[in-house]
Amino acid sequence: MRISVAIDGPAGAGKSTIATLVAKKFDLMYINTGAMYRTVALKCKDNNISINETNKICTLIDNMEMKFENDDLILNGENIQSKLTMPEISAVVSSFASIKEVRERLVKLQRDMSNKFNVIMDGRDIGTVVLKDSKYKFFLTATPEERADRRFKELDERGIDVNYDDILKDIIRRDYEDSNRAIDPLRKAEDAIEIDTTGLNIQEVTDKICSYIKKNLK
Ligand code: C5P
Repeated sequence: MRISVAIDGPAGAGKSTIATLVAKKFDLMYINTGAMYRTVALKCKDNNISINETNKICTLIDNMEMKFENDDLILNGENIQSKLTMPEISAVVSSFASIKEVRERLVKLQRDMSNKFNVIMDGRDIGTVVLKDSKYKFFLTATPEERADRRFKELDERGIDVNYDDILKDIIRRDYEDSNRAIDPLRKAEDAIEIDTTGLNIQEVTDKICSYIKKNLK
């Protein structure tokens, strides 16, 4: 039987770092669904396609082959992971993610992956939509300030010139847009376990999730 683990939560809650560790522990494929929405935003930007041009966006997605290798997103054979977290993509991604046709296509790709592989997926609508039947659902939160601080350190370590206040503003704006959009907004699934990660380190959160999965695998 296939195993699928769903992790949702707002930007910077630590989802991807934690999902990577849980994936290693249980030999799951890590699917970073935020990276898939970011890919759409990046390629629209590269091709000067605006958010109003739904047909062009759909054609673009229909010609994309997205897969994950070693946690990195590979688009049509090219590893584009390092381009996806740039602040200019973070600034526009939520607008693309609010388009119904974009969500339909990406949700289908995500479900296809979960039918083929044992997966852990992180995102905004995984427990509520993509993997609604998953037995293992988690919802991670932390204060906006702590999340901005984590994002700042991560980008700073990669040598990307960023400002803490700009990151905090971006996080608050994306929280609002992601939670208030009409289609599949960010919310906790009723059966998800909520973990407030404020003040907890990565290992503590990872251990909580792993021990829950282990207990329920039996
Ligand atoms: O997870 P990450 O912050 O990289 O996601 C980028 C954006 O992609 C989110 O702010 C959200 O607008 C969108 N997203 C989404 N549904 C998902 C994953 C991400 O709408 N499952």
